[in-house]
Amino acid sequence: MPDYQTHEHDVLVIGAGGAGLRAAIEASAAGVSVGLVCKSLLGKAHTVMAEGGIAAALSNVDDRDNWQVHFADTMRGGQYVNNWRMAELHAKEAPDRVRELEAWGAVFDRTSDGKILQRNFGGHRYPRLAHVGDRTGLEMIRTLQDHGIHQGIDVHMECTIIRLLKDGDRVVGAFGYERERGRFKLFRAKAIVLATGGVGRAYKITSNSWEYTGDGHTLAYDAGADLMDMEFVQFHPTGMIWPPSVRGLLVTEAVRGEGGVLRNSEGRRFMFDDIPANYRAQTADNEEEGWRYTQGDKAARRPPELLTRDHVSRCIVREVKAGRGSPHGGVFLDIAWIKARIPNGAEHIKKKLPSMYHQFKQLADLDITQTPMEIGPTTHYIMGGVRVDGDTQMSNVPGLFAAGECAAGINGANRLGGNSLSDIIVFGKRAGEYAARFSRTQTSGTIDAGEVEEAARQALAPFDRGPSGEGPYQVQYALQDMMQDLVGIVRNEPEMQRALEGLEPLRERARRVGVGGHREYNPGWHAALDLHNLLTVSEAITRCALERKESRGGHFRDDHPDKDPACATFNLIVRKGRGGDMELSRAPLPEMPAELKAIIEANT
Ligand SMILES: Cc1cc2nc3c(=O)[nH]c(=O)nc-3n(C[C@H](O)[C@H](O)[C@H](O)COP(=O)(O)OP(=O)(O)OC[C@H]3O[C@@H](n4cnc5c(N)ncnc54)[C@H](O)[C@@H]3O)c2cc1C
Repeated sequence: MPDYQTHEHDVLVIGAGGAGLRAAIEASAAGVSVGLVCKSLLGKAHTVMAEGGIAAALSNVDDRDNWQVHFADTMRGGQYVNNWRMAELHAKEAPDRVRELEAWGAVFDRTSDGKILQRNFGGHRYPRLAHVGDRTGLEMIRTLQDHGIHQGIDVHMECTIIRLLKDGDRVVGAFGYERERGRFKLFRAKAIVLATGGVGRAYKITSNSWEYTGDGHTLAYDAGADLMDMEFVQFHPTGMIWPPSVRGLLVTEAVRGEGGVLRNSEGRRFMFDDIPANYRAQTADNEEEGWRYTQGDKAARRPPELLTRDHVSRCIVREVKAGRGSPHGGVFLDIAWIKARIPNGAEHIKKKLPSMYHQFKQLADLDITQTPMEIGPTTHYIMGGVRVDGDTQMSNVPGLFAAGECAAGINGANRLGGNSLSDIIVFGKRAGEYAARFSRTQTSGTIDAGEVEEAARQALAPFDRGPSGEGPYQVQYALQDMMQDLVGIVRNEPEMQRALEGLEPLRERARRVGVGGHREYNPGWHAALDLHNLLTVSEAITRCALERKESRGGHFRDDHPDKDPACATFNLIVRKGRGGDMELSRAPLPEMPAELKAIIEANT
């Protein structure tokens, strides 16, 4: 029998980013006992890396903004396969969640009359992103942590959950290991909220940190939950590409929001060459108008650099393929040019984009107030995730909830920048509230000791095989290369078929990886255990991407380059079949109520 500590909570929240913290705060405020587990130290989640801001129709900078416009923008950005109920709730509730952060102590940048300042971002019609310079995520995490820490939440840091445990259909516990000491932990819970973030580490070039290995997606899938929209992966157009050690690191969209422009090697602003029909009416047709928009002229329309991320990424790829790229295979992002327009421009850039200034200065020895940056697309976010009920965030597994990046629905085929930080506080709160409610209706379930023993045995198997087996990193790198090359920004049937065929040999290799040393802080062992998650999400992405024979949002196929109206009628679902194989199906999109359709009509 493996040795493990047992903890018991009414609600267990797995993940301590914005979604997890907000869920834990809400559940705890409802009077139930709450445990919060995270892989790294508290405060180090992905959310802390968020830069540009939180989208919420506060209408502080432009009084034409309201929840209806935000809703319409989100649906257009998601190309109408979003869960419209989630998009509606998100647009309606985000302003209150932002004001609540302010009341809890978040120090936002201010307008001259003391309101929360809002900035422009891609796909948002009006300036909508509440921000703290380009360190918004840090302020969000700090605020939620400060608030949460006084609520009596039990925090289990540096603990990775590797399995969810069920009693019949219902989820009743989770099993994991402490990263530092390697000891096992068993959590009993009446309800569990997954808030584990994304899957970026399935790709070679990514803005995501080591933590984002698709754990929540896989835990849910293995427990019988449906995953939805997994083909929709967001490739952010602006990641660093040089030097190689920092390739993929994010360059915030706020650079373009503040007036930064994209140029090819000929010095031309190529984004004016290709403006999609459904955005033409909202997009500037000349550089002067675009500049005026970034400076708050309400009569001007946004520059094409602020079109949605999927489109901007593809335009960059096109320039590079046409031989008009930068020396290291990207294009140029120029914010330095605004010095010609703004007195004290260099100081202005440093004030508005302090992290970007330091990031390039320290990592690339480049001063962004003087020199254009070299950038290219980077895997950034997954729109797909656990399929949840829009109001409660519960999955199809009773007692299992999901919120934030690991849940699907709100973003459809493409997420607008800023909509994640608002998503995580809106639906984090809802998940916490409904998980607490659910837990009140339940008794503690029975944990199957045999299942726990089996989970521990499987987790320790890489040690049994020892260091003579193949190392986990070789398998991880091979998978990342394959996903990058064959299921990346531009996809097609033969390449994705090759990826699908390539997954089984990788699984076989993953089953044989071995590690040496002991259980105390052993990154090789952790990487070995992550492989199952990375392979599962990669298979889900590939199968769904093969099935969606059109291009929509983050999913672009050069063998089906157009949108197919017939494909706007369903979401793709994967679930674990009885024999253990991944099964794919289509779920028809529920009919949108007439009043929401009218809002979209009125805001095109
Ligand atoms: C560089 C960067 C900049 C960004 N800027 C913005 C922005 O300006 N605006 C915006 O809206 N969005 C932005 N995003 C996206 C946004 O930050 C994320 O989508 C969002 O923070 C996700 O929050 P989350 O709470 O869902 O998960 P995360 O913040 O990713 O937290 C996940 C948590 O789950 C834990 N976890 C994972 N697996 C396990 C496991 N197996 N066991 C236990 N714990 C686990 C992790 O330790 C972590 O605590 C940015 C993303 C990046 C990478």
